[in-house]
Amino acid sequence: MQPRTNQWLLSRLDHLWNAHFSDIKQINPVFISFGRSARLRFGSIRLDPRSGKTIITITGMFKNESIPQSVVDHTIGHELCHYTHGFSSPHRRLHKYPHSGGVIKKEMTERGMLDLYKAYKEWLKVYREELKDYYRNRR
Ligand SMILES: [Zn+2]
Repeated sequence: MQPRTNQWLLSRLDHLWNAHFSDIKQINPVFISFGRSARLRFGSIRLDPRSGKTIITITGMFKNESIPQSVVDHTIGHELCHYTHGFSSPHRRLHKYPHSGGVIKKEMTERGMLDLYKAYKEWLKVYREELKDYYRNRR
């Protein structure tokens, strides 16, 4: 198994882009890396106004190989939907808000990523329970 480095993240981004977003031009440089180990926010995307670069950050928690790869791929796919919809990207903005009425799920479904979406939802159910236990035990 490949260690989960920033290089690995980039290889997942390339794979997902080729497999599901090949019609979406990469107009500006897009970077991806692990960030701090956030427990509740798994991914984010921002456009650096100075450099014009898009920066995707994935929670450092996902370096842990006990997290299924499908969950990491789902998070990257989610951020690529934002890029596609013109949020934190130079593409034309297609919606008023990044999460307007189910647009992400719709986009993922249309792009053949419903399996990733379902795998994520299943994982999230278990993870939420683990998180509850974690906070309960800390009190
Ligand atoms: Zn989002």
